[in-house]
Amino acid sequence: CVQGCPVKVDIPKFISHIVKGKFDKAAKSIKNTNNLPGVCGRVCPQESQCEKLCILNRKSEPVSIGRLERFAADHEETVYAPLIKRNKKKVAVIGAGPSGLTAAADLAIMGYQVTVYEALQEAGGVLKYGIPEFRLPNKIVDKEIEYIKKLGVEIKTNQVVGRIISIDELQEKYDAIFVSSGAGLPHFMKIPGENLPSVYSANEFLTRINLMKAYEFPRHDTPVKRAIKTVVVGGGNVAMDAARCAKRLGSEVTIVYRRSFEEMPARKEEIKHAQEEGIHFLLLTSPIRILGDSKVEGIECIQMRLGDEDTSGRRQPVPIENSEFVIACDQVIIAIGSSPNPLALKETAVDHNPAGYLFVNENLMTSKEGVFAGGDIIGGTTGHGATVIQAMGDGKTAAKAIDTYLKQRKLEEFK
Ligand code: SF4
Repeated sequence: CVQGCPVKVDIPKFISHIVKGKFDKAAKSIKNTNNLPGVCGRVCPQESQCEKLCILNRKSEPVSIGRLERFAADHEETVYAPLIKRNKKKVAVIGAGPSGLTAAADLAIMGYQVTVYEALQEAGGVLKYGIPEFRLPNKIVDKEIEYIKKLGVEIKTNQVVGRIISIDELQEKYDAIFVSSGAGLPHFMKIPGENLPSVYSANEFLTRINLMKAYEFPRHDTPVKRAIKTVVVGGGNVAMDAARCAKRLGSEVTIVYRRSFEEMPARKEEIKHAQEEGIHFLLLTSPIRILGDSKVEGIECIQMRLGDEDTSGRRQPVPIENSEFVIACDQVIIAIGSSPNPLALKETAVDHNPAGYLFVNENLMTSKEGVFAGGDIIGGTTGHGATVIQAMGDGKTAAKAIDTYLKQRKLEEFK
């Protein structure tokens, strides 16, 4: 099972502590390799990672590793943080999401002085603005961020790198930089009607609800539409989260996806939960236009069939002629993916592909010496990022690489 975990949690060891009723010890043992156990226990796709390799799978069901990890993290009574002797080297981390927080914690444990620059008003990145409270309570994220702060990491919020300070300027103050600013630029379908009011990107819709607490408007400043009928476009976990949030705000919700259940990228568990909450699924369907004059009145779609496999190995959806139809709705949420926001890299020459994903070498160093990157910002070129735990895996790899880089540099300076 340990081989299936991207951050190599010592699973047999922490479970043996739980068996003996030593929950603090279990949490401490997990934290040797994983700084966010309460988060991972809840949002890791265990079925394709640690639990997939459990030998009990051959006979029946695997050990519920994720749930045990969550239990240990939640029952930790005293948040343990070791006392660490600091060296003089300084590292800046851009973005306080799962990748940045993991790198920051590991580097702090190694003795570096770490400062995290977060653009939003709270640390947590996608854990805070993206994943809803009912899947990952904010107080769990806050508890794990508290632990990272106790390790000596300084987190500066409301710091939009690229606007208030550039990476080049940061390089004058820090010995190394880790860019983990994620992929916060939502994709749209580029179809007529997409600019109507009440058409949200899933990113905006979820941020309003999860971070800005729009469901408590006017007690909180940010509003969100209370729709009667919502159509969510997309088939990933983000689409499931947006659909379930809209449902909990009182709307009837239909998910429109252009392939079938088999190709749907969302976790089976998330699809099941969405179905249990009464979300409708309209598969092999693709939107062609959003209808309405000054507000959304419906969405025109076309039926699809599956053709040959594309480069990703999935069968390509092909439109069926004359199969157009209209779904009446007053809100549309687009959840078809996102790419990196170019802002952080403004005025800094770092090689990237046309979509803005940074190129990195095997040590996650970018084309700019001393600047490393990981998580969703390199996802499009390498298959990194994608899930919280993969982003955290990048954070760990980058921390080790930064440590090696700074030690080698010190040796060269000494020579
Ligand atoms: Fe499994 Fe994720 Fe925990 Fe690793 S971090 S043991 S993959 S739940």
